[in-house]
Amino acid sequence: KKITIAIDGFSSTGKSTLAKQLARQLGYVYVDTGAMYRAVTLYAMRNGFITEGAFDREGLIESLDNITLRFVYNPELELAEMFLNGENVEKQIRTLEVSKLVSYVAEVHEVRVKLVEQQKHMGDHKGVVMDGRDIGTVVFPDAELKIFMNSAPEVRAQRRFKELTGLGQVVTYDDVYKNVVERDHVDTHRKDSPLVKADDAIEMDNSNISKQEQLDKVLVLAKA
Ligand code: C5P
Repeated sequence: KKITIAIDGFSSTGKSTLAKQLARQLGYVYVDTGAMYRAVTLYAMRNGFITEGAFDREGLIESLDNITLRFVYNPELELAEMFLNGENVEKQIRTLEVSKLVSYVAEVHEVRVKLVEQQKHMGDHKGVVMDGRDIGTVVFPDAELKIFMNSAPEVRAQRRFKELTGLGQVVTYDDVYKNVVERDHVDTHRKDSPLVKADDAIEMDNSNISKQEQLDKVLVLAKA
């Protein structure tokens, strides 16, 4: 029987790695909700609604109807890519510049309402692995399996640093570390659906276990 799997947790805990592997093994659809918040942030940056010093929330809220987000499956990568108003922005949304602003955009109630609504429909059929911050609490409170991931901030920053430099971005470890800690702070302290473990979520700390061990554990849970 196909189920819905919700994966939440702090930044750079390996949620998407786990979610992608799970989806592949189970033949499920993978949805990266962070990509949606990142795409809205990119839109806000491009249209001058947000910079490192200023945020015109009203301007962004008024423009929300002009933002169309779509995941398009790329068979070569065997993954869905994020399209913002018809443009593939998969690369542009992964920069540290977007990471630095995304949690402020994600605090805006109207942004969350729009994205959560869309996410709920992506789960209309079962067989979905969705990762984010509020999947088990808000998007799919009835998900059959909920995982909440954590690991030491140094481990997470190191992971993200490698990922960004691997993408050819010029960043320092300190900047990445600061960003990881800051996003966690904003995400856990916001008014609207703050990052919190759902009561029925299974907590996993992967500071000390391998990706494979973690995947094996969750596969057992998913098939139970
Ligand atoms: O998952 P990722 O790190 O790409 O998410 C980027 C940011 O988007 C998070 O730091 C958080 O502020 C926001 N987010 C959210 N709710 C989600 C997914 C992401 O608020 N479901």
